[in-house]
Amino acid sequence: MLIRKSFQFRLRPTKKQKKALSLQLDGCRWLYNQLLEQRILGFEEVDMSLTKNQQLMFLPELKEDKPELKQIHSQVLQNVADRLDKAFQGFFRRHKAGEKPGFPRFRSMHRYSSFCYPQSGFAVIGNQLKLSKIGSIRISMHRSIQGEIKTCTLRKTASGDWNVSFSCEIEVEPAEPREEAIGIDVGLSDFAVFSNKEKIANPAFFRKAEKALAKVQRQLSKLEKGSKKRRIKGKAVAKIHEKISHRRKDFCHKESKKIVDQYQYICVEDLDIKNMVENSCFAKRIMDASWNQFCQFLTYKAAEAGRKLGLVNPAYTTQTCSQCGHRERKELWERKHCCMKCGYKTTRDHNAAQNILALGIDGLGNNPRSSLL
Ligand SMILES: [Zn+2]
Repeated sequence: MLIRKSFQFRLRPTKKQKKALSLQLDGCRWLYNQLLEQRILGFEEVDMSLTKNQQLMFLPELKEDKPELKQIHSQVLQNVADRLDKAFQGFFRRHKAGEKPGFPRFRSMHRYSSFCYPQSGFAVIGNQLKLSKIGSIRISMHRSIQGEIKTCTLRKTASGDWNVSFSCEIEVEPAEPREEAIGIDVGLSDFAVFSNKEKIANPAFFRKAEKALAKVQRQLSKLEKGSKKRRIKGKAVAKIHEKISHRRKDFCHKESKKIVDQYQYICVEDLDIKNMVENSCFAKRIMDASWNQFCQFLTYKAAEAGRKLGLVNPAYTTQTCSQCGHRERKELWERKHCCMKCGYKTTRDHNAAQNILALGIDGLGNNPRSSLL
């Protein structure tokens, strides 16, 4: 089975290389905005919808206007046109479907953070990334790249660091089949509770990160807007955010792998349906982001290993008794499940996990307990 997998690393560019990378990014952004303007003029003045290939024919002319573009690999420039084309395709698709279309926008510096080598112009040699027209940049190689590298994307983070991600094609063998099934409920008091009563506790770094962030943010708010001090502090805030997201990712990778290693049938709530309340509370936001990532990883790792993933509509999973199907409203603070009808007692989250398991298995086509809801 051939799958796509991406490998992300931090880059360690020299000051000079950092500047070169930023210049290229800026060149790409300039081109994006130019091509967007061209399309708009095409619509407005000659009532014509320019195609990507028509736009690419203007590239030599644009290079005369902006000589910096000559310093950028031709495929990287083509990829910019590609990106704009995709933005328009999305716009037309949404328009047709009657959704809010969202016309492609001009990009400011803060809204254009990456450029991509779609085929060539880059090479990985040892722990160096060799880029056409930039040179060799050191990579922090914390794991080895597998498979065949297809694309190479360079991304500038909010704090001004650079990452690289390689999208690779890998041949994988499905894992040894298992028999066990598990239902998983994600929640606030524990990160996740399983239908077999095991749980994943919330990692301590969530709370620590929350405190650290609150502190620097307080300091930030006291500094004058537009001042140099504020800009520096702003970078520190961005750094903490990046650190949290690294650790979160690491945590989600480890926990999702353990589950996929052990179970054949994995049932979780469909977080796309679950009503994720817009919440200003930082702890809640970080949890939402973590669950989303956890479920994403679970999904692709399950596919890789040939496991079956059952997505469950989250409605009533908390309120229904997993043993007799009796449904009763529960307040958010009620942490126990205590069935009025059959007397079943357990924790709220464990009962939900049991429901998720039953519904998930049901959805996967095996049907031992379909009378539940
Ligand atoms: Zn009951």
